[in-house]
Amino acid sequence: MTREVNQAGNEDNTLRATLNMIKQATDLLELTPDVYEYLRVPMRFVEIAIPVEMDDGSIKVFTGYRSQHNNALGPFKGGIRFHPESNPDEVKALSMWMTLKCSLVGVPFGGGKGAVVCDPRNLSLREKEKVSRGYVRAMGAVLGPETDIPAPDVYTTAQIMAWMADEYSNIMRRPTFGVVTGKPLAVGGCAGREEATSRGCVYVAKEAARTLAIPFKGARVAIQGAGNVGGFAALLMEEEGCKIVAISDSRSGIYNHAGLDAREVIAHKKKTGSLEGITGVKQITNEELLTIDCDILIPAAMENQITAKNAGDVKAKLVVEGANGPTTPEADQILKEKNILVIPDILANSGGVTVSYFEWVQNNYGFRWDLATVNKRLEEKMVEAFNLVYGFYCEKCTGSDMRTGAYMYSIQRIAEAMHYRGWLRNGTQR
Ligand code: GLU
Repeated sequence: MTREVNQAGNEDNTLRATLNMIKQATDLLELTPDVYEYLRVPMRFVEIAIPVEMDDGSIKVFTGYRSQHNNALGPFKGGIRFHPESNPDEVKALSMWMTLKCSLVGVPFGGGKGAVVCDPRNLSLREKEKVSRGYVRAMGAVLGPETDIPAPDVYTTAQIMAWMADEYSNIMRRPTFGVVTGKPLAVGGCAGREEATSRGCVYVAKEAARTLAIPFKGARVAIQGAGNVGGFAALLMEEEGCKIVAISDSRSGIYNHAGLDAREVIAHKKKTGSLEGITGVKQITNEELLTIDCDILIPAAMENQITAKNAGDVKAKLVVEGANGPTTPEADQILKEKNILVIPDILANSGGVTVSYFEWVQNNYGFRWDLATVNKRLEEKMVEAFNLVYGFYCEKCTGSDMRTGAYMYSIQRIAEAMHYRGWLRNGTQR
């Protein structure tokens, strides 16, 4: 079974590649073509202008997007990123992955994603607040705790979620914190949400290592990204007894064959905003990090990092996709030939949305779970999802990769919901 690549052979065409994957999965499942017809476009795509008075008194108008891909399983759900390169196609692809992710891990949400085209590293706190509130003012009509629930994503934080929840509450004229997840604890956040994506990655990596008989304690780990996902992943993997040999951020990377002190490195990154100035390490580039000698590679930064150019040099035995879309279809093929197991993003990083779901449930009930309860429930969900998908992949996807298995497993559930909701009059199958 081979994966179709996008026709232009263009590796950065994330949306095209995602559509190819969805199409392939619906074909392999022999689903009615109506399923693909529903999934190939978002149900709604909104573009907004966000005027902001900058600190110097000038006016800047930022562009914002929200893609509401599919709500067959429940309200749209997914993060909002602040990134200078965000564009409609990227946001659409990201919203499709949310639909698949929520279905895969069994949380009752559909998929959505948003973005503001900006570089938050060049914005003051006050400007960031204005952008966040402006986004909700312009987009508020299509958001809501029962409609569409945003969350943090690349370069967005708990503080940004709090401003968004506050702005939405102003519009509704009552506290409506359940409209976003990933909030600070003081305004209806959930214990453990900040590190949930990373913790989910760790649970999945551990279960995969057990399944593949790779010793987890002492495993050498390389992590691309030192932000919310990569940073916590380094700390948590170290706590599990793994050896973090390399880590990078958007500017630079560091490597130490004997192992880095993750706590020290992440504390340094938090304090100085960079990985530069750490002694006793070798400086490496982001590109070099991906092909470093290690057992487990965690790409936890942006899309399209492992490509046809570098996949042949990847040395890890296991790739755990902390980021969304870090591996291109061409690279997937090469990694498969090299017998490297890639745990796909929609499974590996679904811990974030899982704990978002826990947060939303708690907001709806006005009740709070403690950290131990959250982590225990997260572990149960992640281990169960890994085993279900891995089992499905081994049984039904001989010769293909785990991503194909994950897409199939997920789409099957969505098709079933569509059928029962009466969207597919003639059943799910061809
Ligand atoms: N942005 C995260 C993701 O891509 C979390 C989404 C959420 O919690 O809704 O999965």
